[in-house]
Amino acid sequence: MENNSITRDRFADNDRIFKEFSCQICQNLLWKPHSCSSCHRILCEKCMQKWFENPMNRNTCPFCSKPSEYKPCTIITQHTFSYLSIRCRNEKLGCKQILPYKQLEHHETANCQYLSEQCMKCNQLILRSKLVEHQQRSEQCISCPIKCTICKNSFEDIDFQEHFTECYQQKIDQLNTNIYFDRNMERHIRDNERITPNSTLIYFEKFF
Ligand SMILES: [Zn+2]
Ligand SMILES: [Zn+2]
Ligand SMILES: [Zn+2]
Ligand SMILES: [Zn+2]
Ligand SMILES: [Zn+2]
Repeated sequence: MENNSITRDRFADNDRIFKEFSCQICQNLLWKPHSCSSCHRILCEKCMQKWFENPMNRNTCPFCSKPSEYKPCTIITQHTFSYLSIRCRNEKLGCKQILPYKQLEHHETANCQYLSEQCMKCNQLILRSKLVEHQQRSEQCISCPIKCTICKNSFEDIDFQEHFTECYQQKIDQLNTNIYFDRNMERHIRDNERITPNSTLIYFEKFF
């Protein structure tokens, strides 16, 4: 969705770990994870905010539909993220560093040799020192289509918000159908066959 989301290609560990630590809505690595006070399911901060800013959702959890509050995950849960390895968002600009989760933000906003800003006009990541020059060059500052991380389709800037809101709702509906389906099938599916992303994290949220 945005250039600073942590997509699969920026994650340096394996698929299984990525799945466990990724947001079920945007499918990026959970960034600033928040959990539901009722069902303990987890969303990244952006997806959580996006859900609650819609008045239609009436402060109910997208997963369990109960009136709920989303709070930052506990210290224990957050600690499990701290050693995940992530490539710097400025890789295309020249930075080859892989950082632990807990150092990433500081690196990208202060320490990186290739500090960048997202251009407000075209959404591209541009070297901070070249931003003014970039915006003056019409052949460089061209609005790129934005890729929806949920459905992987690309959209023009002006159509994106509307699409994303719709796509998001569909994703929630689909996840909720799966949860319902899982519950009904519970006796027929062996535990080790069930794929439940965030299961360790949800466990920590529930019991610690
Ligand atoms: Zn998300
Ligand atoms: Zn919930
Ligand atoms: Zn860097
Ligand atoms: Zn630009
Ligand atoms: Zn989409």
